[in-house]
Amino acid sequence: MAVDRHETNDLAGPGALLAVFAHPDDEEFGTAGALLACADRGVDVVLVSATSGEAGEISDPSLATPETLAGVREDELKTACTLLGFAEPIFLRYPDGGLSAVEPDRLRDDVVALIRRLQPRVVLTFDANGGYGHPDHIAIHHATIAALAAAGDPTHRPDLGAHHIPDKLYVTAYPRSGIEQVNADFVRYGFPPVSFGDVQTIGADELGTPDDRVTTIVPVAHLWERRWASLRAHRTQYGANSPFLQVPEEVARSWLVHDSFVRLHPRPEPGARLPDESDLWSGLPLPERSNP
Ligand SMILES: [Zn+2]
Repeated sequence: MAVDRHETNDLAGPGALLAVFAHPDDEEFGTAGALLACADRGVDVVLVSATSGEAGEISDPSLATPETLAGVREDELKTACTLLGFAEPIFLRYPDGGLSAVEPDRLRDDVVALIRRLQPRVVLTFDANGGYGHPDHIAIHHATIAALAAAGDPTHRPDLGAHHIPDKLYVTAYPRSGIEQVNADFVRYGFPPVSFGDVQTIGADELGTPDDRVTTIVPVAHLWERRWASLRAHRTQYGANSPFLQVPEEVARSWLVHDSFVRLHPRPEPGARLPDESDLWSGLPLPERSNP
């Protein structure tokens, strides 16, 4: 599948962070603050959405129809990225809900091509359980992990560009303690606990990430306003009736004090918290800007 090229993405290079997700709005859960912190420091943040989210909800029928939802959600993500200071997002336009049916080598090589073109120093994707078991999230996790190895192998598909090995790989972590807090707050304000729709493929006790697996905790409370504005840019997904927007703002703020991650490469000692890692760019030199 041809990968869209965007003028802004051509700016990416050794100072890039590539975040590979499945749906427009996946960046909002547990990562937007940490990515924004990197963008504020001059890092080119590039989001990839493997689908255009056309199987998602439509919060208000005046916003989209099932036929127009893909384009509307692409525009919502573009708006969110503009608000966050990210590059224009890249869409692979695979079927929403159908990523696990895509030939794995094809999905992997799409990500290989992006890694070789954008030369990111940091790559981020979902954890192996997709956070909450979404099959699309799990598929893009496996594709990205496989792509990282293949992108650095000069004998693999040299037609996709010169080999490149990113410095670091992270996966998203939704600490179980955080999920419990969100659900307790929802119940307190009269909403049902988060059900994660009808796509959950794992048990309730497997949701999220055990807190002791988290390696990297990024403080993001100070980035609340811009991050929350970017979430609200996904208007078809977060309408006025969304529980996330119905709880008092200070409650939602309390959920987003930190963004948490597990670093898979370089792999730290098992169970080790990395106290020196206060963001996803920790330990790397900030990119030089020719036009600061
Ligand atoms: Zn998703």
